[in-house]
Amino acid sequence: MQIMPNRMDRGYLKYQEEFETKALAVLRSGRYVLGPEVEAFEKEFAAYVGADYCVGLASGLDALWLAFRILGIGAGDEVLVQANTYIASVMGITINGATPVFVEPDEYYNIDVEQLEGRITERTKAILVVHLYGQASCMGPVMDLCRKYGLKLVEDCAQSHGACYDGRTTGTFGDIGCFSFYPSKNLGAFGDGGAIVTNDEKIAADMKMYRNYGSEKRYYNKVVGANSRLDELQAGLLRVRLQHMDEITGEHRRLASRYQKELCNERFALPRVREQADSVWHQYVIRCRERERLTAYLSEHGIGSIIHYPIPPHLSEAYQYLGYGRGSFPLAEEYADTVLSLPLYSGMTEEEQSFVIDRLNRFC
Ligand SMILES: *Cc1c(COP(=O)(O)O)cnc(C)c1O
Repeated sequence: MQIMPNRMDRGYLKYQEEFETKALAVLRSGRYVLGPEVEAFEKEFAAYVGADYCVGLASGLDALWLAFRILGIGAGDEVLVQANTYIASVMGITINGATPVFVEPDEYYNIDVEQLEGRITERTKAILVVHLYGQASCMGPVMDLCRKYGLKLVEDCAQSHGACYDGRTTGTFGDIGCFSFYPSKNLGAFGDGGAIVTNDEKIAADMKMYRNYGSEKRYYNKVVGANSRLDELQAGLLRVRLQHMDEITGEHRRLASRYQKELCNERFALPRVREQADSVWHQYVIRCRERERLTAYLSEHGIGSIIHYPIPPHLSEAYQYLGYGRGSFPLAEEYADTVLSLPLYSGMTEEEQSFVIDRLNRFC
């Protein structure tokens, strides 16, 4: 049996007819950018998340950097962010000239809220919380600190569509929630896509201006914006997938809970589940000290796996200028050296998962 870490074709085949009907309808409509599909998707996605406004964008990275741009965070400002995130979170900060201040992760792979306050300086302007792998961060203390120090709160929800903390959906805690619809995400498009959600009417209006060359009125440009528009085809296809989101999330949860119950091998550690968090299991991430041997063993048996992520941002070549080295954030580095994401995707069969579980349990 050959098992890949992700099978995006399965997610397509599941709702193939609906996707194809929608794609044809959009192609025949003659409207391809900023039309009725985008408008409808924005309404539906805002309702899904429980926010007042949604603005469709071209990618998750655009959502992040435009969020900080609109909040007025740039050169000389510091933003707290967890050290074990995907590098796009950090780029969202640095594209604006602001400085990322890294904070070690907790045992759930989210930002360690115990260490947050100690990292706040006069220059701190915001906290970027990343709900990594689909599990919500601990939000109470984060919100308290934002109030206490007058900080903005941005959420990176690229991996947490529909995930909750204390019954509240991620993306609704902060000033702006940033989403990606990259094909491999839980709510994936068939190309690039992204969005922000907010309860602030002014932020939503600004975002609509920024995504379209800084213009509210055609050819009248108020600010230097970007071209970051979610297109009609992606929006239409996302609307189809969004209608099935409960089912898709349910699949992720079922697969994860079977791994949790049936994986049993002291050579690796299973992910920990935060009590107040209802994860959507974007990734199922184990940790293994003999990771190289484990991945070789798995691939011998036809099982693919991915490392999310092998190099923490502070050690990547792109961020050498920040001046960190090995040992700067030991826990983030340990995670980078030991994490491994197991196959988990919508449309994964019981037989496929049994095979993965069996091989993993027999690793010695
Ligand atoms: C995917 C991802 C992004 C970036 O999204 P794109 O749409 O690929 O630009 C940002 N942050 C996290 C945590 C992600 O997983």
